[in-house]
Amino acid sequence: MDCLFCRIVNGEIPSRRVYEDEQIVAFADVAPQAPTHVLVVPRRHVGSLDDLRDPALAGRLLTVAAEVAATLGLGAGYRVVVNTGPDGGQTVGHLHLHVLGGRQMTWPPG
Ligand code: AMP
Repeated sequence: MDCLFCRIVNGEIPSRRVYEDEQIVAFADVAPQAPTHVLVVPRRHVGSLDDLRDPALAGRLLTVAAEVAATLGLGAGYRVVVNTGPDGGQTVGHLHLHVLGGRQMTWPPG
């Protein structure tokens, strides 16, 4: 399977990592949509939120998102986004949480 984020997790494609543990890797988004924009991904391939079905890993992903936000100084607030499927705007088929911060977010999103 040729998955971009699997290749990033494996180190085949370089990234700026900000966090990693035995289950999860977080790295800077290559096209940041905010002053801070990090992607939090499971090491094992999970196609999307629809395929996750793993409450423990779901909890870890959210916990790491919050820890990364704190580590990167987003105490004033941040947004976590999980684009899912074509209508959700998902463009990479490996589950990822966007952590965006460092500016005032607006609502509704586009
Ligand atoms: P989504 O559109 O929700 O699937 O998000 C995919 C994200 O992956 C986008 O924000 C892209 O900018 C980001 N992205 C694509 N290629 C890379 C890469 N090589 N390194 C880091 N982020 C990437």
